[in-house]
Amino acid sequence: MRSREGVMACKGLGVPEEVLQAIYPIVPATSSDTGAFDSVLELLTMCGRDIPEVMMMLVPEAWQNDPLMPQEKKDFYMMASCLMEPWDGPALLSFTDGRYIGATLDRNGLRPGRYYVTKDGRVVMGSEVGVVDIKPEDIKKKGRLMPGNIFLVDFDEHRVVEDKEMKERYARRQPYGEWLSRQVVTLKEVLGSVPEGVRQPKFLVPQNAALPAPASSNGHGPLEGAGLLSLLEPLKMFGYTREGLEMLMVPMAKTGAEPLGSMGNDSALAALSDRPKLPFEYFKQLFAQVTNPAIDPFREAVVTSLRCFVGPSGDVTETTESHAHRLDLAQPVLKLEEMEAIKAMDYRGWKTQVIDTTFPVSEGPGGLRTALDRIAAEAEAGVAAGYSFLVLSDRNFGPERAPVSSLLALGCVHHHLVHLKLRSRVGLFVESGEARELHQFCTLMGYGADGVCPYLAFEALISMQHNNGPLAGRDRNAIIDAYIKGIDVGILKVMSKMGISTLASYKGAQIFEALGLNDEVVGKCFQGTATRIAGAGFQQLGADALKLHNNAYNVHVLAEDTADAHAIPHPGEYHYRAGKDAELHLNDPEAMATLQAASQGNNRALFKAYSEKSTQLSRQIHLRGLLRFKRTAQSIPLDEVEPAAEIVKRFVTGAMSYGSISLEAHTTLALAMNTMGGKSNSGEGGENERRISPAPDGTKNPFRSAIKQVASGRFGVTANYLTNADELQIKVAQGAKPGCAEQSSAYLPMEASLRVKSMQVDGQLRTGRDVAIATLLGAEEYGFSTAPLITMGCIMMRKCHTNTCPVGIATQDPVLRAKFAGEPESVINFFFMVAEEMREIMASLGFTKVDDMVGRADMLEMDSEVINSSPKLAGIDLSRLLLPAGSLRPGAMQYCVSKQDHGLDTGLDVHLIPMCQSALVDKREDVEPVYLEMEVLNTHRAVGTTLSHEVSKRCGEAGLPRNTIHAKLTGHAGQSLGAWLCNGITLELEGDANDYVGKGLSGGIIAVYPPKASTFKPEENIIVGNVCLYGATEGEVYFRGMAAERFCVRNSGARAVVEGVGDHACEYMTGGVAVILGETGKNFGAGMSGGVAYVYDPKKKFKLLCNKDVAEALLPVEADTNVRQLKSILQQHVKMTGSDVARKLLINWDRERQNFAMVFPLEYRRALAEMEATAKAEAAEQALLASAGAKSKGSDAFEELKRMATRASVANPPKAIATDYQPQTPELDRKFLEREAAQGLPVKGMKLTWNESRPTVLPSKNADKRRGFVEYARKPMPYRPPEERVRDWKEVHAKISPDSRGELLHTQAARCMECGTPFCHQTASGCPLSNRIPEFNELVHQGDWRSALDRLLETNNFPEFTGRVCPAPCEGACVLGINENPVSIKTIENSIIDKAFEEGWMVPRPPSHRTGAKVAIVGSGPAGLAAADQLNKMGHEVTVFERSDRIGGLMMYGVPNMKTDKLDVVQRRVDLMAAEGVKFVVNANVGTNVDLKGLQQNHDALLLAAGSTRPRDLSAEGRELQGIHFAMEFLTANTRSLLDSGLADGNYISAAGKKVVVIGGGDTGTDCIGTSVRHGATSVVNLELMPRPPDTRAPGNAWPQWPRIFRVDYGHAEAALTYGQDPRKYSVMTRRFVGDEQGKLKGVEIVGVKMERDAQTGQFRPMEIPGTVQMLEADLVFLAMGFLGPEATLAEQLDIARDERSNFKAAFGDFATSVPGVFAAGDCRRGQSLVVWAIREGRDAAKSIDGFLESRVGRQLLANDVMGGITDVSAYSLPAAPSRRLAAV
Ligand code: SF4
Ligand code: SF4
Repeated sequence: MRSREGVMACKGLGVPEEVLQAIYPIVPATSSDTGAFDSVLELLTMCGRDIPEVMMMLVPEAWQNDPLMPQEKKDFYMMASCLMEPWDGPALLSFTDGRYIGATLDRNGLRPGRYYVTKDGRVVMGSEVGVVDIKPEDIKKKGRLMPGNIFLVDFDEHRVVEDKEMKERYARRQPYGEWLSRQVVTLKEVLGSVPEGVRQPKFLVPQNAALPAPASSNGHGPLEGAGLLSLLEPLKMFGYTREGLEMLMVPMAKTGAEPLGSMGNDSALAALSDRPKLPFEYFKQLFAQVTNPAIDPFREAVVTSLRCFVGPSGDVTETTESHAHRLDLAQPVLKLEEMEAIKAMDYRGWKTQVIDTTFPVSEGPGGLRTALDRIAAEAEAGVAAGYSFLVLSDRNFGPERAPVSSLLALGCVHHHLVHLKLRSRVGLFVESGEARELHQFCTLMGYGADGVCPYLAFEALISMQHNNGPLAGRDRNAIIDAYIKGIDVGILKVMSKMGISTLASYKGAQIFEALGLNDEVVGKCFQGTATRIAGAGFQQLGADALKLHNNAYNVHVLAEDTADAHAIPHPGEYHYRAGKDAELHLNDPEAMATLQAASQGNNRALFKAYSEKSTQLSRQIHLRGLLRFKRTAQSIPLDEVEPAAEIVKRFVTGAMSYGSISLEAHTTLALAMNTMGGKSNSGEGGENERRISPAPDGTKNPFRSAIKQVASGRFGVTANYLTNADELQIKVAQGAKPGCAEQSSAYLPMEASLRVKSMQVDGQLRTGRDVAIATLLGAEEYGFSTAPLITMGCIMMRKCHTNTCPVGIATQDPVLRAKFAGEPESVINFFFMVAEEMREIMASLGFTKVDDMVGRADMLEMDSEVINSSPKLAGIDLSRLLLPAGSLRPGAMQYCVSKQDHGLDTGLDVHLIPMCQSALVDKREDVEPVYLEMEVLNTHRAVGTTLSHEVSKRCGEAGLPRNTIHAKLTGHAGQSLGAWLCNGITLELEGDANDYVGKGLSGGIIAVYPPKASTFKPEENIIVGNVCLYGATEGEVYFRGMAAERFCVRNSGARAVVEGVGDHACEYMTGGVAVILGETGKNFGAGMSGGVAYVYDPKKKFKLLCNKDVAEALLPVEADTNVRQLKSILQQHVKMTGSDVARKLLINWDRERQNFAMVFPLEYRRALAEMEATAKAEAAEQALLASAGAKSKGSDAFEELKRMATRASVANPPKAIATDYQPQTPELDRKFLEREAAQGLPVKGMKLTWNESRPTVLPSKNADKRRGFVEYARKPMPYRPPEERVRDWKEVHAKISPDSRGELLHTQAARCMECGTPFCHQTASGCPLSNRIPEFNELVHQGDWRSALDRLLETNNFPEFTGRVCPAPCEGACVLGINENPVSIKTIENSIIDKAFEEGWMVPRPPSHRTGAKVAIVGSGPAGLAAADQLNKMGHEVTVFERSDRIGGLMMYGVPNMKTDKLDVVQRRVDLMAAEGVKFVVNANVGTNVDLKGLQQNHDALLLAAGSTRPRDLSAEGRELQGIHFAMEFLTANTRSLLDSGLADGNYISAAGKKVVVIGGGDTGTDCIGTSVRHGATSVVNLELMPRPPDTRAPGNAWPQWPRIFRVDYGHAEAALTYGQDPRKYSVMTRRFVGDEQGKLKGVEIVGVKMERDAQTGQFRPMEIPGTVQMLEADLVFLAMGFLGPEATLAEQLDIARDERSNFKAAFGDFATSVPGVFAAGDCRRGQSLVVWAIREGRDAAKSIDGFLESRVGRQLLANDVMGGITDVSAYSLPAAPSRRLAAV
């Protein structure tokens, strides 16, 4: 209202201006919502409008989507919308001005309003019936307020004025329709007013260039070939991420719906994150509290609207034609051409001012604040100059200008104009590259934007139409329309969670909390928004904006068209990604794996490690991470603290329904919690009877959930279900759990919400520390969701909503459920370890009992070490959260000391139950029927509910025989008459009832009819209130009279008759029968998917009132079954209520039945037909299974229950029932599994025998990725047959045709689940390079190999090396590997790069500029090469020195040709690098023939990547004998000779005709075996000290660790083929070598050993086993026992420090040695390791060197010249290199 005051004249008040000014503000700042309404109502009435008219204006009906509303009335409401926004939300408002008295109801009808009109002219109205007793015979009418209707009494005219009549009167007062048609301006008109050339969409990149991608300067198109890359700079600057584009925007552009995700958000709060954050991310949407229920934007779409009238608005105190001069926006997202037209318009007095919202980068972070002042001043001046619209535009960004966040700019201008009372004079639009996701649009609307044009989002989507792009082949307009629709639907969903139906009400309402912004920011841009922890100021926000700007326009030079240059940031906001710039997640893979190992093994030490990791993560993620326990606390001995067994009773598991998680997981949690005395939560409604009923001995069922949740009348909430609860939980809005999607940025962290909520808390609790902090902040009970799931095997795949959970937790798929391996013990172990940790903290703080800790926030303080660790945290102030509860209300108890009083003793059931004792007996055969009569009052709520509880307790779901208890009531029943009324109880009410009659009806019967003395027509009067039969599951209801709104919503099984209903009847009904014998309201049957409704419709207008879902599927009542059903229900209705209406219908049945319309949803009909067919098929299957000997189970539920209960002893929890089953054939086994699952029985552990026969390739490339891992078996690229490959030196891999490869990998890649937490990708146990495996797997599956290549090259320089020699730890960590074969990642990786070379995509891409900095690298192994490649791409001049005669190091000479081809693979890469500018110098033995110091001086940096080259020797007797060699001598010489002469020169150690012994396993040992076999050795034996590895993972080697299992590599297979047996001998030690007189080796003496732990050192060492000595004949021995470190020369000459293992000392991460400018990477630094680790180190070292060079030499951009190549060392001046050639042996 404040902004309206600027244009208000209040002529009707007739007061001078100064008086008027004194009246302001109309709405005081401290006013409540109701107070504000009062003030506005009073003002508008006093200014001359009638009070009913003002009520119509302020609380309009839902007019926008109502086809039945008369046009005049619509025009009135539209005119009112032009004047002001409606008062939204649920309300019943009463009013009077002395002449009129009346009441109105909100547009949704979410409040009850009932009235009687008596024959003597009295009117009684209230929110309930029965507040005043009136004789039935005196009542003329019984009615209820309808949504948006006004009940009005006119004292002048002495009558009740009908809503219709009154509204018609006001609607006709002025020619509103004409005004509107003359004055309202549409977007179409604006578009038409601007010349086409001017309103053309403005693109950042000319569209002919964006589509398809242009060829680049070097003649080669960008690797990814995507138009998106042409927008790289703006995308980076506005903080776009690949995830945001692909996971959020693309799905919207495809489907017009917001995509779903699962498992909540566990990433860092914006206020804590190290990454630059957009201001949007600091805002949390606040959602509906109980008094403001959420609404359903889909089923009740008729009441929602995004339509707004924007632009200058008039004086709200009067109504003239000019008030209609506003811009009509159907929704708030503006297209490019619309924005251009608005900016350029000069139409009907409207002009637009565009305000630049960018600031000069040169001003630094402070420039942001300065720019905001400028923007606000320009906006003010624009209004003064008469502009009607302002557009805040950041299109002026560029290398010199960074954008001010659109949210800051908007908030600042909006509040500035409101403050000056100018806001009503203009429309405010945002044109921003920043807005693209739902939350951003919501925040912009919430802070006052009238419309938003997300120009970059549009352009990014359009650019993805390119050939390979995700939107390829789609129409541009369709993309934009779908995206806008997705945003619109999302806004509606967000609004509905607050009970807001119209955007006009949401706009500017600021329903957010700012988390982590300081008062200055909030004061300037978001005034009135709660901000409780202070935080970032303008300086920080400015710094973040510049950081993003720098990401886009930094001075870094990257070779054009390389993957690095093209990488769109992918920090992993939703799905985990590894890396330095990645988003942190609390569910970090390492933490999860440790938690699983700790809980499954009950390992306290591992739990400690997990807890520490969690705490460390928490410091960067959660507010609680910024807290610590007061250090001054007095500790007490641990044994004085209450035991863990007591503490765990306070633990509860989160509300996860059986539906969102599997039966197996649900029951495991329940069993665990019941065992400990904690509580599990059923989740939304429904629990199988088998899990509810007590055991035969009366004890509680161990599988029952102690907490039963009742959520929106969910199906399956029955009397029996509720009876078997220890605690009921009512769910108001959606949470974040498996299968549950999130809208917008929804949830406040636990620390911030706890202070205002209840004593039970949840929110990422996972350690004892978390629990202790929660307690000190006031919690007494603690909810855990994610952590217990992880202990049961959850791996946070975040695909719960797709029903494909691979560990059988969040799925209903029986095949996946069978894979569930969780155990209750793990859950219990976890909780006890949490409790023990909590005890330790309690002891350290001096608390003996949890109760004493509750609310003692004074024991917490901010952790200064954490706060000081980041400048971003400096502004955070948690003091408001740390206010001790006791200080707020001194003396009040701080923990729960008394139970809640539900006032049950005032209910009627207190009297009913004793009167029904004869029916409430334990034995069914002893039951005696009861008939009783009682009076009922409207204060008697839930009559019959406690009685039903008593019945359910005794009889369970079955209840009592029909009509055993019959209660005849007279009077006015209070709310919820017969709620959850169970089988066997009949309530007959003569009178009327309030809302919720028969809610959750569970088998009982309710009949309500008017008192016999009444004279009104029942079918025209209201007899029961709103929401009757909500969530009913079974039973019968007969109402002689009308029901109000929302009748039978979510009914799933009850039969109901009523003589008229209000709006939204039968919404979301899934079963049962509803018979309506009179009028219906709007929106009948929305979302109705089951059941049948018969509606008496003699006037044939029902179709118009139906929801469109059912309107087209109405049927006549013709089929015999339907006719019979309807007739018998009517007969019953007559019998139960004496209904005249039904009686008349029955009298004229043949005619009247034709006046019924039947709503019988198509899907339901289909399902019924299918069920019938399935029943037949099942009967046949039963016979088949029986004949196959399978045990038939589940046919007797009671027997089954007994069996389950008996097994469920706490000490011995049940194993899967399916384990009783003896496997038959795969086909029968699967059928059996499906049948068990369908019967609600657990299937855990059933053997998936059909897995063996799954296909590995689908020829037609139509593999289903969603279920790929279930449907297809693993197949890596095969090796050639051993008999073929031993005859040559070619690579062992088979070559298959590109087509076959494409087909194979399409299927194999479909097995990848694109995990939310891809364990394959994390470095702790997965890929050391953090290869973007899920991404390239998906792209390969799609056939987009080129993009896959780009993703691969972003992290891996040499996939052709790793694809051949990497042992693939990624596969060991692949989530699939938990219970089946992992994805063939290595094959996919290798195929991508092979294809890239085949296709000619791998061409030289030299950098376009050089920096002038020079780097020398010593060593050309994988580390040196990777560093060289990276540094060269950055523009540095790189020279690599290699002491051998060929480049490649280990890849050239250490790995044999059959594993990696030297010419076709290694040399190919070297040549490519040389062509890109890397200089290679061979025969350069640095430190010997190349002067090391000279190198150091001539280069700006020096990298040592010399490898670990000192082989481990064996000091055994006879070691000096001829014929004993290090493996590397053998392998190197062989490869060199092969390359030089095809082994013709003889310069190698030949094993031909020799007996070979290889000592040591590993890859090198295998390579010696393979080489010896190819030479033609007569025998090959491989000795291994360690025992043979197990065939499957041993304890202590759990997933995701590398599986230490027995494998057969290529060399082993070849030896086995050649010599008839596997060459390996395990657990043997070499004692001595035996030679002949010439000193030549003859044999090796070995002995069997076993490993024993040394008592002193604790180390394992081999102990000889007596009597196992053996002599092996041998001519050649190869020692393959690993390496001890680098040679000393380099270190000595440079004087660099070395570690205790003699490696060059340099920390991982910066790789700097003790000598400035000298770096070390790879095996010479970390010791002998994998090639993949060497590449990783080389890459990271390059990054570090680049940083070093930046600060040291600056950057001079020089023109590129081709500089690379391979030269000999002779150019490097020192004496010629000594020959590396070995003499022939
Ligand atoms: S480099 Fe190794 S660990 Fe990484 S993806 Fe490739 S095979 Fe797997
Ligand atoms: S490769 Fe395995 S772990 Fe990686 S994303 Fe795919 S399924 Fe998940």
